[in-house]
Amino acid sequence: MRVLVAGDRGYIGAVLVPLLRAAGHEVHGLDLDLYEGCDLGEGPEDIAGRPPVDMREVEPGQLAGYDAVLCLAALSNDPLGHLNPDATHSVNLDGTLRLARAAKQAGIERFLFASSCSLYGAAGSSGVTEDAELFPVTPYGETKVLAERELSLLADDNFSPTYLRNATAHGASPRLRLDIVVNNLTAVAMTTGQVRLESDGSPWRPLVHVADISRAFLATLEAPRELVHDEAFNVGRPEDNVQVRDIAEMVRDAVPGSVLSFADDAGPDLRNYRVDCSKLETVPGLELRWSVRDGVEELYRAFKEHGLEAGDLTGARFQRIAQIRQLMDRGEVDAARRGRLPALVALEDVGGDFHCHTDLSPDGTAPLEVMVDAARARGYRFLAITDHGERLGLGGASRDQLLAQRARIRALEARLGDITLLHGAELNIGGDGTLDYDDEFLDSFDVLVASVHDRLDQPREQLTARLIAACEHPAVNVIGHPTGRRIGSRAAGDVDLEALYQAAARTGTALEVNGSPHRLDLGDEQVRLAHQFGVMLSFGSDSHGPGHLANMRFAVATAGRGWTTPDQVINTLPMGKLRDFLAKGRKGR
Ligand SMILES: [Zn+2]
Ligand SMILES: [Zn+2]
Repeated sequence: MRVLVAGDRGYIGAVLVPLLRAAGHEVHGLDLDLYEGCDLGEGPEDIAGRPPVDMREVEPGQLAGYDAVLCLAALSNDPLGHLNPDATHSVNLDGTLRLARAAKQAGIERFLFASSCSLYGAAGSSGVTEDAELFPVTPYGETKVLAERELSLLADDNFSPTYLRNATAHGASPRLRLDIVVNNLTAVAMTTGQVRLESDGSPWRPLVHVADISRAFLATLEAPRELVHDEAFNVGRPEDNVQVRDIAEMVRDAVPGSVLSFADDAGPDLRNYRVDCSKLETVPGLELRWSVRDGVEELYRAFKEHGLEAGDLTGARFQRIAQIRQLMDRGEVDAARRGRLPALVALEDVGGDFHCHTDLSPDGTAPLEVMVDAARARGYRFLAITDHGERLGLGGASRDQLLAQRARIRALEARLGDITLLHGAELNIGGDGTLDYDDEFLDSFDVLVASVHDRLDQPREQLTARLIAACEHPAVNVIGHPTGRRIGSRAAGDVDLEALYQAAARTGTALEVNGSPHRLDLGDEQVRLAHQFGVMLSFGSDSHGPGHLANMRFAVATAGRGWTTPDQVINTLPMGKLRDFLAKGRKGR
């Protein structure tokens, strides 16, 4: 096959390229070479004929003739993501999507994406499978979640994305990194004689050797398409879920004379998880060969052969964050923000959430008080409680239940005194555009979200008319998840978006950007178009439990890619202005 590797000159790419070549593939590379000179030994193989482009600017014409794109390019580690979340989002997410969309347009069938187990975040110590809920705890992990979701939306008969969720890598590479745990501990032990743990060593970490990651890419590339189409795989070996202290002991054993010690003021480490890698075993011809102990011993030999100095531990040569900081000082990564508007909406602008269920909804898991506390913990000024209306197929709340909830909300709000609670509901837009309950009752809510939950397969004209009818209702403030897509399971309804946008703008109805990773609806390109019609957006996490409130970040990131500024989002409005907006056509307000 003719294969393009984006990120061929990084830590994994430098090991993967020779492997692909040895397997008979023709390989080209695409890389900014941010880590030029960060070499151990010879450095990566040079690839002739590389398109000299930033993947954030790649055009379909530059990708003609390839059979597959392997996307490894990323600003890749957790502290780096915190150093500059914008650059991380720009390179990891915008760049990946640009490359994927261009690849699809160029007719390339296969797209392998280097994802990460870090998208499971604080998932805990039981092995997580690929369909586990995703709770990333870093900007880096967030970009991986969003990239997978958006790539999944591109999947069709002609385009097959696959997501390789790599465990934490270790092992020697011509483009070495020392900012990952195994490599770091080994290098420190060799230069200082100390194996020093900054935590108590108890967190679990899934590990995988860089050569085994490369094998997984090769096997997935060569696998029958139906096996890997739109599929995620945890990449690692079951036996290499280890505790950090086990790694430390392996390093001490491998590096003669080194001594193991623990810091006494060890801070908490949120990244604690084990992964279940059994699905990867369904990929034919794949055998992962490297144990962690073998990786440590290999590193020891490589460092002895090529030399390692104390300065390498903190300097730019092998520490990605130091290298990127240097490049940023020279303005080279600020290309990351090239062409972007200066003041896109950010999470800090968001004062509250307009889409939140409690256990009054059949699929809600937590009582009102728990959801409100979770919102206060996020520093929100307000929270809208929007349980399902009674016409939901699964069973929604009755009028009496909602009235009782309203009394509870008012009492809670008065008792707490630090958050405004808006009483709302998520109504069901019927097949004919009518809503749950009667108009007088609807008029009594602070805020109403109206969503289509059934008959999404209606013809365009009918489905659009339903949504427009909901916009025209004087008490409906937000159209929830406007296209109805469920990522990976249900295509969007056939909605005439321009007609919907006109109606929303005309009637003072906001359109939701739903932050649930299952929805991301509206999507980025739809958001961009919405702004041309002057539509206001409403960000909602569509929470069904307290942990989901954090999905607000995905609404923000999706809208940001649609060029949204804070003034185009009702979540940013001060309370007086927000009340004016929500009053809409309600009587007496
Ligand atoms: Zn809904
Ligand atoms: Zn909902």
